Amino acid sequence: MKAYKFWFCTGSQDLYGDECLNHVAEHSQAIVRELNASGVLPFEIIWKPTLITNELIRKTFNEANIDDECAGVITWMHTFSPAKSWILGHQEYRKPLLHFNTQFNMEIPYDTIDMDFMNENQSAHGDREYAHILSRMGIAREIVVGHWSNKAVQEKIAVWMRTAVGIIESSHIRVMRVADNMRNVAVTEGDKVEAQLKFGWEIDAYPVNEIAEAVDAVSASDTKALTDEYYEKYTMLLEGRDAAEFRRHVEAQAQIELGFERFLKEKNYQAIVTHFGDLGALRQLPGLAIQRLMEKGYGFGAEGDWKVAAMVRLMKLMTEGKKDAKGTSMLEDYTYNLVPGKEGILQAHMLEICPSIADGPISVKCKPLSMGEREDPARLVFTSKQGEGIACSLVDLGNRFRLIINEVDCIKTEKEMPSLPTATNFWVPKPDFYTGIEAWTLAGGAHHTAFSYDLTSDQMVAWAEAMGIEAIVIGKNTNISDFRRELKLNDMYYSLMKK
Ligand code: MN
Repeated sequence: MKAYKFWFCTGSQDLYGDECLNHVAEHSQAIVRELNASGVLPFEIIWKPTLITNELIRKTFNEANIDDECAGVITWMHTFSPAKSWILGHQEYRKPLLHFNTQFNMEIPYDTIDMDFMNENQSAHGDREYAHILSRMGIAREIVVGHWSNKAVQEKIAVWMRTAVGIIESSHIRVMRVADNMRNVAVTEGDKVEAQLKFGWEIDAYPVNEIAEAVDAVSASDTKALTDEYYEKYTMLLEGRDAAEFRRHVEAQAQIELGFERFLKEKNYQAIVTHFGDLGALRQLPGLAIQRLMEKGYGFGAEGDWKVAAMVRLMKLMTEGKKDAKGTSMLEDYTYNLVPGKEGILQAHMLEICPSIADGPISVKCKPLSMGEREDPARLVFTSKQGEGIACSLVDLGNRFRLIINEVDCIKTEKEMPSLPTATNFWVPKPDFYTGIEAWTLAGGAHHTAFSYDLTSDQMVAWAEAMGIEAIVIGKNTNISDFRRELKLNDMYYSLMKK
């Protein structure tokens, strides 16, 4: 992750003289200083000189465009700033924008307020003039309202910064496909050219045996060292297998992890898809290896699902370095529990779940797959943390991409599942099990999802808006009749939109 910065641009005008402009600069510098010192923001804010002319506004926004470290601009109207001055700058600006509806003073100074004070501190006035032109121009932006010293307000800026980094980083995601889409499967398919146009993702195919050669090239000593690390870190559950034979199976995954990572690094890819039916010279389906790569930040999609691979990578970038992060992974809706009052969806996959979402100890098991004709792959087995999260599915509807976001409550299963040799999560979709699943299936959501405990549906909606695609949320306020209407209106909107 780059050391991204966000620029703080204050709007004003010269109507009230230099003394007033000096105060504007002092105030905005103080706000930037305090925001940076708050400890709440994941990235630094850089103060920029007050914007009062069309030329300077245009120049500043163009500098923001070409500055590699700048991930977005925060604007604030300290006084009244005639908004026609902002048209050219905003026409040319291409990065995320946050309009900060704040004010230097928190309280009206009742005893001393006079006309000079009011003219100098007229954010309520200036922010409306500025917001008007943004709305007229149809510019997507985040709006944060409140005093800059308020922790809740600072948290909103922090959340937006992560969304902004997702928007900027999306176009740096490169997905390596070492297998095509699973035969006959619809929902994991999609238009890769349109994905590059919309999201900036580069999605390329490699013959699986090229990466298998990279795995083969990993030395025995490197493989041994990583296997030793596994044996130190995880509990080995032999379940009756011979210890030496078990270790050979685990070694195969260590060799895959090293070989895959070297190949991905050499070719500059940050996400990968595999397919149990297309393994070439690989001895095992990558299980433990893929789980470890996901934990390191790589995106992954199974059965050729490049959309999920890119989404997992994106969501990992958006949560990177987050304090108390609980994890992000690919998951798959597998099995229901339909007992009244205990309804939920068991989330798993054959193998490939990221241990960042694990709760408690992690074990390694070697078990046969019911599919594919390979050695029994070693995999990490665990259960997941409790708490709220979001499950995202990006589907291609032919004339557009739709991002479906379901807010879910992760809970523990009623009982343990000792015979199930995979990592699991278990969740209840919002607003409730029945409505959530009805809405998901109405919207055409997939069985594979990109899941995170550390992002909100609002963040994903803002990302989708910046990408110019449809986003729908299934959350606590969802009801089916409104949801059906929303889908119909969206169909109409996107059929009228040229692109
Ligand atoms: Mn699958």
